[in-house]
Order: sequence, then C-alpha cells, then structure tokens
Amino acid sequence: MTGRRTATLIPGDGIGPEVVGSARRAVEATGVDIRWEVREIGLAALAREGTALPPEALASIRETGVALKGPVATPVESGLRSVNVALRQALDLYACVRPCRLYPGVPSVYDEVDLVVIRENTEGMYTGIEFEMGTTETKELIRFIGEATGKWIREDSGVSIKTISEQGSARIARFAFEHAIRHGRKKVTASHKANIMKFSDGLFLEVARRVASEEFPQVPFEDRIIDALCMMLIQRPEAFDVLVMPNLYGDVVSELGAGLIGGIGVAPGGHFGDGAAVFEATHGTAPKHAGADRANPMGAMLSAAMMLRHMGETEAGDRLEAAVAATVAAGEVTADLALSGHPALGTRAFTDAVCYRLGKGR
Ligand code: ATP
Repeated sequence: MTGRRTATLIPGDGIGPEVVGSARRAVEATGVDIRWEVREIGLAALAREGTALPPEALASIRETGVALKGPVATPVESGLRSVNVALRQALDLYACVRPCRLYPGVPSVYDEVDLVVIRENTEGMYTGIEFEMGTTETKELIRFIGEATGKWIREDSGVSIKTISEQGSARIARFAFEHAIRHGRKKVTASHKANIMKFSDGLFLEVARRVASEEFPQVPFEDRIIDALCMMLIQRPEAFDVLVMPNLYGDVVSELGAGLIGGIGVAPGGHFGDGAAVFEATHGTAPKHAGADRANPMGAMLSAAMMLRHMGETEAGDRLEAAVAATVAAGEVTADLALSGHPALGTRAFTDAVCYRLGKGR
C-alpha cells in the first residue's frame, strides 16, 4: 500500500449522500488512507453558494485529479441545462466508462455478462447546438442547407447538430484500446451507423479502424452497426467485451447494459479526461427514496472500486468489488434486488455487510 492519497468527495442530491457515504465507508474499510476534500455541487451548492457548480468544487477535482460523486439534480434556477454535462465539459471528461458485470445473486435472465461500454462524451448528437422550429436562424439554416445540398428540410423542423471529429474519434478509440490492455480485456468492438451517416459515423469508424491497425494490432478488433449490436447484446451478451461508440449510442447502450446486470441501482461508472476522472453510479437522485435507508449503494461502491484501481490501488479495488459480490451472493441485498417475499437489507445494513467482509479480508 502506498502513502496517503487525496480525493474529492461530492455527496450530491437525493439518495446521493447516503450511497456516497456508503462508498466512502467501504473505501475506508479497505485500509487505503484517503483524505477526502468534501465539496458540494447541485442543489446544496445552489442553496449555500448561489451556484450549482461552484468554482471551488471544480478546482478541487482539478487539484486532486479524482472525485467520487453522487448524483446531482439540475435546479431550474441554476440556468444550466445540466449540471452533470457542465461538469464534464469543464473538465473535458471525454470518455464515459460503464462496466456491466453480472454478479451471482443479482436476479437476471442471463448467466454471464461482463462487458464495458465506453462512450464518447463530448460530441456526436450531444453538441448542444440546436435550432428551434420557426426562428429566423432556423429558417436561414434550412435555406442554406437547401441551397448547398439540394436537399430541402421541412420548414416546420427543429434542428439538432451532430458533429464527429477525427481528433475526438482518435482519442476515444485510443482510450478504449488502452483500457482493454490495462484491464486484460480480449476484444474491442466499435459500434456506429456508418452505412447511413457516412461523414460522421463513417469518420468515427475509419479512425477507429486506423487506430486499431496502426497502434494496437495486438488487440482483436471488430465493428458492428448499432442496431445489430443491440440485438446481439440481448441474444448473446457474452460475445462482447469492450464496446466503444459515439455519444448517443453509448448513452443508450450503457442503459441497455445496466438492464442486463440488474438495473441502474447496480451499475457503476467513471468519466475520464486527461487531467481528471470522476466516478459515479449510473442512477440519478431518486428523490422519493432519499433519507429512507433503502437506496442500493452498489453502484456507488463499485464506482469507488474503479476509483481505487485508477489511483493505483488495484488490489484494494479488487477486494472492494469482491466484498460487494460476496455480500450479494450471500443473498444480502437491498429491496430493488430482493426476490418477492424475501427480506431486504437497508442501505446501512448492506454497507455494514460489505465493510465486515472487507475487515475480515485485511
Ligand atoms: P433523476 O431525476 O436525478 O435522474 P430519477 O429518480 O428520475 O432521478 P433515477 O434516480 O435514475 O431517476 O431512478 C429512477 C428510479 O430507479 C428511482 O425512482 C428508483 O425507484 C430507482 N432507483 C434508482 N437508483 C436506485 C438505487 N440506488 N437504489 C434503489 N432504487 C433506485
């Protein structure tokens, strides 16, 4: 074990403080010595500091390089479309990693699922560049496109701009291959709709193929059209390993993956940039469960395991994941995973069970 480390801790809103608190306890039970810089973003930050995304929180993450984060709500008064998107943009967190691993004891129709969805997080369909139906700008844009291409968009259209760049595609492809190598994964599959969108998805595919053959010839690589991939994932999820794809497809397939492994309460995630990484569960704030001691902290705990590995504490990360898996395998689960008629643990009792196993393993 190495010396003391520092990480930013963002409790978040709704069930965030409970599940992040559980993850923090589990990290501490591994024995890794972390000094936490607790910073607020979201509702609590808006109430206390007048902004939902305070500069001090961003500065802390830039400084520590890692954050464990709870879900945050975007209050209307914040003036932001999404606090989460603003955070990812501010830190240029361009790669979203969603491991989808099925643990024994989690109810599922599958026997084996162990894949990783890597989503490009800065461009594609989610540029945020939009033109509202009927405005002067939109009419001008429609006229320009008609004149330039000979294709006339219906006048009563809203328009959202999708962009895919060579640079953005190259860095997400490299990230996927490096992730595969670092984590001993066997194959990378790029997914796209290049047969229809030749200049955006087509560019993504061309660049992914080039990165695969020129820089990572030792890693098996294939590509699948996104609609076919969705069908194959449902039929044979065990046929896939690392999946890499543009923003919108990655968003959808991440949720599909969460569905394969027991739902959003279970699924962890990490957002990576060159200077910082933010780890958070897939689920949102689930306000109706807040403070009720019934939220599942698994997603947050498994995100914390990812964080430990990212910090170089691989053995502690593996032990944390194993303790969560052993707890679930023993039938000790929260209400969202309990079979009907079976008793469920609250958030605190589940956390105690995981920490007990970690304590015994030390
Ligand atoms: P937000 O608006 O922040 O996305 P939400 O409640 O609309 O919040 P999610 O939090 O993603 O959306 O969850 C949808 C539903 O899934 C919740 O209402 C809750 O029933 C369930 N859920 C989500 N996360 C958990 C969890 N960790 N434990 C138990 N149930 C959960």
